[in-house]
Amino acid sequence: MLFSEGEVGNFAGMGGTGTLKAVLFDRDGTLVVDVPYNGDPRLVRAMDHARAAVDRVRSAGLATGVASNQSGVARGLLSLSQVDAVNRRIDQLFGPFDVWEVCPHRQEDNCGCRKPAPGMIINACRRLGVAPDEVAYVGDIGVDVEAARAAGVRHVLVPTPATRVEEVECAGVVARDLWHAVDILLGPPTPPTPPHGQVPVGQVPVGQVPRGGRP
Ligand SMILES: [Mg+2]
Ligand SMILES: [Zn+2]
Repeated sequence: MLFSEGEVGNFAGMGGTGTLKAVLFDRDGTLVVDVPYNGDPRLVRAMDHARAAVDRVRSAGLATGVASNQSGVARGLLSLSQVDAVNRRIDQLFGPFDVWEVCPHRQEDNCGCRKPAPGMIINACRRLGVAPDEVAYVGDIGVDVEAARAAGVRHVLVPTPATRVEEVECAGVVARDLWHAVDILLGPPTPPTPPHGQVPVGQVPVGQVPRGGRP
């Protein structure tokens, strides 16, 4: 295991006080490349460093989950079974997530699950048996941050070129990529990276693919 017990759960200033027990992720633009209204498992591509980052969360003994808006279902652009097929492909690529939450509605439906509403994140916490302050949510746009805040979990924003500047400015915690997000949540791999960009022999620099590459 990469981390001592004491290192997992040091989140001063991140809005959580409990020991981190689960990390939940947005799906499109966070775990996988965003293909709008994708119903085809063959089009699933992992984001850079995403699989290594999720592996690291699991290796630290934390639960993992996904909470994803899929309004294409309500719009009639894809079926729930297509969404399921894509999600199963993501489970294949990443290893199975402990919990999946999908909102099939569109904004006009005024459901409690579509982000920025907190319903999916709260449901995931309940299904995992963890309290919101023991959970982090990682996403790529402003509604992910808003949903995390509304649910009472800590957040990390990992912007993509599609993320708006104001969404980055409103986020309390911003990471370069998913590996960096996990660094922020779990603490960097031991020993800490020294200043001035020097990296000790054998240590993975922040934001780079760990030794062995992604699976
Ligand atoms: Mg997204
Ligand atoms: Zn919904």
